[in-house]
Amino acid sequence: MSGDLVVDDLSVHYGGVRAVDSVGFSVGAGRRVGIIGANGAGKTSTLKALMGLVPRSVGGLRLGSVDLTKVKPKDVVRHGIGYVPEGRHVFAGLTVEKNLLLGAYLRSWKGKTQQTLREVYDMFPVLGDMRHRLAGALSGGQQQMLAIGRALMSEPRLVLLDEPSMGLSPRLVEEVLSILQRLSEAGLGLLLVEQNAKLTFEATERCLVMENGRVVMAGESAQLSRDPLVRQVYLGL
Ligand code: ATP
Repeated sequence: MSGDLVVDDLSVHYGGVRAVDSVGFSVGAGRRVGIIGANGAGKTSTLKALMGLVPRSVGGLRLGSVDLTKVKPKDVVRHGIGYVPEGRHVFAGLTVEKNLLLGAYLRSWKGKTQQTLREVYDMFPVLGDMRHRLAGALSGGQQQMLAIGRALMSEPRLVLLDEPSMGLSPRLVEEVLSILQRLSEAGLGLLLVEQNAKLTFEATERCLVMENGRVVMAGESAQLSRDPLVRQVYLGL
């Protein structure tokens, strides 16, 4: 299965607050797109709206041939979108393996679950080593890997990642970067939301800049990273 994510005229309001304002973009199948922006720019709300987790108005929302506006929030994962929420939200009192298996609960073909589990352990050997440990005992970086591994258990075509670098040391940020590269090499599409613009420019091919709920700039990541305004505001250079 393959397919582009195409988002047209997406808005999110929380009461009187307009968190996302008529945003449109696409993520080609297997491509890497980033969204950067300051605190409160509307990045998280955009991802939540794609997953159907917050009330939204949208002109069009498709993944390949699937019209996601007609899909219930609980079924979005089944249609090939994995979600790694901000703050990881692993189940601290469950083992690493139980956390991963929870990511597979929507799969219709349960027989392949063990194979996917092995693939996740191949990608993140540390999770395999710690499979019987409680998730709460993992370090921040390991929990981030677990959250990503859990999203992979549903065999997504596209993964939405919300601030995977948050709270991680520079060394672990490098590790996240290499994880994103491996996911991309495995053919997954990525939509990466970050306050860390440097990481985002390195990890993605195209990038959107959000301010006050709107997309104010968009283009190739390499090109945006050379833009004087972007360098000043988002890279602090
Ligand atoms: P952050 O990096 O802090 O997560 P963000 O770019 O992801 O920021 P959002 O979390 O989407 O931004 O927030 C966008 C706007 O919507 C902000 O003004 C925020 O205060 C507001 N907002 C977010 N969630 C809610 C909510 N549940 N109820 C009311 N307002 C909200």
